[in-house]
Amino acid sequence: MPMSLQWLEASAAGLLGLLIGSFLNVVVYRLPKMMERQWAAECAELSGKEVATGEPFNLMVPRSRCPGCGHQIRWYENVPVISYLLLRGQCANCKIAISPRYPLVEIATGTLFFFCVWQWGATASGVAWCAFAAILLTLALIDWDTTLLPDDLTLPLLWLGLVSASLQWTSTGLNSALWGAVAGYLSLWSVYWVFKLVTGKEGMGYGDFKLFAALGAWFGWPTLIPMILLASVIGAAIGIAMKFTSGLREGGYIPFGPFLAGSGLAALFFGSETLRQMAGL
Ligand SMILES: [Zn+2]
Repeated sequence: MPMSLQWLEASAAGLLGLLIGSFLNVVVYRLPKMMERQWAAECAELSGKEVATGEPFNLMVPRSRCPGCGHQIRWYENVPVISYLLLRGQCANCKIAISPRYPLVEIATGTLFFFCVWQWGATASGVAWCAFAAILLTLALIDWDTTLLPDDLTLPLLWLGLVSASLQWTSTGLNSALWGAVAGYLSLWSVYWVFKLVTGKEGMGYGDFKLFAALGAWFGWPTLIPMILLASVIGAAIGIAMKFTSGLREGGYIPFGPFLAGSGLAALFFGSETLRQMAGL
């Protein structure tokens, strides 16, 4: 491919990534709230109570508002990164600080999309890996915030990994992807039960098994080992660091999902081959 075309395609993907990143911020904020509403409605229904139907709340409505003053965010206050810089990180109305996480997520998504299209071109492979990266980033943030890994994200990630292997959008053979999904799920499921039987505590959730199954589907079973090593080492390091800086939250629980997602992104960046070599496999 000519160099300039590669730049053009990757830059266009990067710009698209900034916009998608802006949407991912909405998903990260709203999806857990949507799940809570759903659970509340189901509980009410089971106990025979009147189900309260409030205002519609989903990824599209209502429009985003400032959490400080309720000021409805206008389109030109919602341009990825640029609006944040122009507003100097403050609400246009009440000047409450806007978290720098919003533009950072946009930049991260833009960078991931740039990388995927740079690597695989504007092809089905490139699009598939962009979707992979976007879902993984979203899962990491939701798990970090709420310790939830929504099925609405982990399961499509798993199916998409298997489909991508079958259609050869990834270089992972279908056989390796299938057994990757099975081994990914069963390995963490086994660890969970051994841990639970020995200590009586739950060290992980079922969302972690599904996320690891999805990673197995994308990279194939041999890459599961370096990915779990990487996630465990970095997770432990961050956990210890947070203990010393007393950054631990109530209960001292650190979700594992962000580290699994991180090791998946590492496999994306460095290639599963490199990851396996680094682990000496
Ligand atoms: Zn405000």
